[in-house]
Amino acid sequence: MDIDLARAWVQAITVAVGQHKDYLTQLDSAIGDADHGTNLDRGFTAAAAAVSDLSPETVGAVFTNTGTTLISTIGGASGPLYGGAFRALGKALDFPAAEPLAFAEALAAGLDSIQKLGTAVPGDKTMIDAYAPAVAAFKEQARQGAGFAAAAAAAADAAEEGMRATTPLQARKGRASYLGARSVGHQDPGATSTALIFRALADTAARA
Ligand code: ADP
Ligand code: MG
Repeated sequence: MDIDLARAWVQAITVAVGQHKDYLTQLDSAIGDADHGTNLDRGFTAAAAAVSDLSPETVGAVFTNTGTTLISTIGGASGPLYGGAFRALGKALDFPAAEPLAFAEALAAGLDSIQKLGTAVPGDKTMIDAYAPAVAAFKEQARQGAGFAAAAAAAADAAEEGMRATTPLQARKGRASYLGARSVGHQDPGATSTALIFRALADTAARA
């Protein structure tokens, strides 16, 4: 992971979120308030613009800027959660480039940030259900000596599996939890956007 890849990832997330904006909002209309797609589209469009104006000297500077922008532009729960995660990534990556193991540690710091703020655990039907297995998969690949693109591809696969596994769960955090048992049978919007974020990383790394 270097500065160019960091920037390209933020831009790829923005494109993916733009393409899936209506889908994310549709998922959020079933078990939330129908704003997840528009929230993330607004946030990442602003983040991509901010990052392209930046002359960062570290990978972390790209992510810190992204996180700050997400926090200030997204109104919903996902703004502080994703914003805090990117800021944690930024803090952990105070270098011009990062090896897969260092990036795995940074992803874990992002997960910690989401869990400290939102207090969700795996199985609560949130973005954690996609994020946690993605971090575990990335770390496992990195430990085995895989390159960045291979680790990112494994993380994206794990995130998508975690995303699909949210469907039968009952929500215990966030707006969807107000629905109780009626939240069962719907895929979680935040787990879906997390899967998009990791797929964007895998695609960007594969092109680098
Ligand atoms: P809001 O719920 O405020 O409308 P969004 O619609 O943008 O915000 O985001 C909803 C998503 O945020 C949910 O699908 C879920 O994945 C995630 N989420 C909500 N609360 C939490 C939490 N406490 N911890 C982790 N993720 C959460
Ligand atoms: Mg919502």
